[in-house]
Amino acid sequence: MNQSFKTTCCYCGVGCGIVVNKDKHGKLTIEGDKNHPVNRGMLCSKGMNLHYTVMDTSDRLLFPEMRLNKNLPRQRVSWDDALDRAAAVFKTLIQKYGANAVGFYVSGQCLTEEYYVINKLMKGFIGSNNIDTNSRLCMSSAVVAYKMALGEDLVPTSYDDLELADCFFIAGANPAWCHPILWRRIETHKAKNPHVKIIVADPRKTQTCALADLYLPLNPGTDIVLNHAIGRLLIEQGNIDLGFIKNHTEGFEAYKNTVMQRTVEEAAKICGIEEADLRLAASYIGESRGFMTLWAMGLNQSVIGVNKNLSLINLNLITGHIGKAGSGPFSLTGQPNAMGGREVGGLANLLPAHRNLNDPKHREEIQKFWKGTEISEKPGLTATEMFDALRSGDLKAIWIVCTNPLVSLPDARLAEEALKKAKFVIVQEISSKAETLQYADIVLPAATWLEKEGTMTNSERRITYLAKAIEPVGEALPDAEIICRFAQKMGFHGFDYQNTEEIYNEHVLLTKGTNIDISGVDYNLLKNKSIQYPYTLENRQTKTNPEGTKRLFTDKIFHTSTKKAIIHAVPDVNESELPTPTFPLILTTGRIRDQWHTRSKTSKVSKLNQHISESFLEMHPDDAVDRYLKMNDLVDVFNLRGRLRVKVKITTDIKKGVVFLPMHYGKILASELHRTNNLTHNLIDPQSKEPDLKFCAVQVKKY
Ligand code: SF4
Repeated sequence: MNQSFKTTCCYCGVGCGIVVNKDKHGKLTIEGDKNHPVNRGMLCSKGMNLHYTVMDTSDRLLFPEMRLNKNLPRQRVSWDDALDRAAAVFKTLIQKYGANAVGFYVSGQCLTEEYYVINKLMKGFIGSNNIDTNSRLCMSSAVVAYKMALGEDLVPTSYDDLELADCFFIAGANPAWCHPILWRRIETHKAKNPHVKIIVADPRKTQTCALADLYLPLNPGTDIVLNHAIGRLLIEQGNIDLGFIKNHTEGFEAYKNTVMQRTVEEAAKICGIEEADLRLAASYIGESRGFMTLWAMGLNQSVIGVNKNLSLINLNLITGHIGKAGSGPFSLTGQPNAMGGREVGGLANLLPAHRNLNDPKHREEIQKFWKGTEISEKPGLTATEMFDALRSGDLKAIWIVCTNPLVSLPDARLAEEALKKAKFVIVQEISSKAETLQYADIVLPAATWLEKEGTMTNSERRITYLAKAIEPVGEALPDAEIICRFAQKMGFHGFDYQNTEEIYNEHVLLTKGTNIDISGVDYNLLKNKSIQYPYTLENRQTKTNPEGTKRLFTDKIFHTSTKKAIIHAVPDVNESELPTPTFPLILTTGRIRDQWHTRSKTSKVSKLNQHISESFLEMHPDDAVDRYLKMNDLVDVFNLRGRLRVKVKITTDIKKGVVFLPMHYGKILASELHRTNNLTHNLIDPQSKEPDLKFCAVQVKKY
């Protein structure tokens, strides 16, 4: 019998709807869901090839493995044996060194239900807040900035606003490659409305710039200078919303004093752009009726990431472009469920439903609900801190779920050293190619997309349901089930869920009465349609906002203590590792169109490998001439942390003095000599703890 299932793409934060068709022989085909409000039937190259990653099971982990000491090879064991040993080791370590001796490092690709149970287990029962996620590398700067500016980590806008805006300022993002379906919606909107203005600020002339009315090739690390100069021009030209500023914001005077400290001429020089272009950007924004700022990792992955975010959000606040159609600050998440992880509090400093770990009332509330142990007030270790603590010996055991830190963490050799030193490593994974497996004492095979059900939340607060269409391979289990079985082995009560829906329902109860109330959203509803939160039980009963909440802050009441948005006057100095005569080039990193993260899925699809088949270094012709390099020469890229070897691609699309490497490459179908994170710095933003993955100093020489 042929069957159809509705699900969501598990790659980027756009969250496209997919219909999976299974024929009577079990063969899968997929198509974009024509009724899905996000993609309206469209899929990008990654999405339309997603089923191949499931059908090719040649690399899948099929059964649990374990070793009794680090000198022995791992052997196949039963689930009971693996989880009994995991529980015995965790109990021993906790008894001997305390609850903070263990930690979980999870992923923005985990389903919301999986995030929920891991967070509950760690914070509510083990009694440590050492649970963090690779989302820390992705959007934590945006989380902190939203909280500081708007009072809560909430994306105020919707994709539908894209079609209502007449000016976009895209900073540190390449949506044409990284959020392709969202970009197609902008392209269509611009084609229908040629007056719509698009400004793109990026040191690289990416595919996104092809559609730009104004491209600002700014120097890396100068985003705040640029945003402040635009702010100054908006103020000087009278293109600000004084009524909104007076009635609904705080901090404008301090902001004004700050942005007036640099002349526009000086700012243009620091940014490496034309003063006239800066003025043009301000006039496009000032004349717009609907103004949206869009950003991604170029702002977030920075040692001053929070301040970069705040300086951009300020442009929406001083112009009053928030809480109305076609307006607002819109951070684009890189991962499919970075938002869901935030909702359940799956970061080292958060609690469920956007509660704060540092609020005793919030801790008490959650503790009473979970009926577990006392929730510690001490924030847990964040992503890079966890690996630092493994190296120093403070953290003894780490459980890695659905992420590949030996490729994705900055200065990856430090992560390698950390896993070598760890007393105990558990890796919960789908792929036998993940680099972390070489250090694992226990390997737990996880079910993948289509092999389990659950929910995710995309970049516009849209919760979608992902259906189970096929059985997991071998003995693989859904991640939530693995964690619940482990929790029971630890002797904890409250993890005997009969199914994933029960976990979801428990998460929903904790949102009731909060600003992300989803008490009206259950699996039955989600199986029919996706919905944007908040969506309360009252909404559902009274049939108000039947699609959920499209836009937030329409009443101009923010979630700060004064109900006003806060304009933060932030410093504009970059704190990154600066170039030196020995390492004179700035290395920046990013995604390529057809690969995803560390390529454990996309490298399996031959069509996707055809677009760009190997890593490369992008370099300006002047820098190439200085080094006697020609196109496709093999070069060594190096600094004091490490080196790698790739072919050089010489192009005027990158600024002189800046080189670019794709972020995806490690060992999978490549060599460790391609690993971009051999070079990156593990500096972190002091507030968001997000690493400075887009900026470090390197030298390049012909091999
Ligand atoms: Fe998947 Fe993102 Fe492509 Fe949509 S745009 S199909 S969510 S990768």
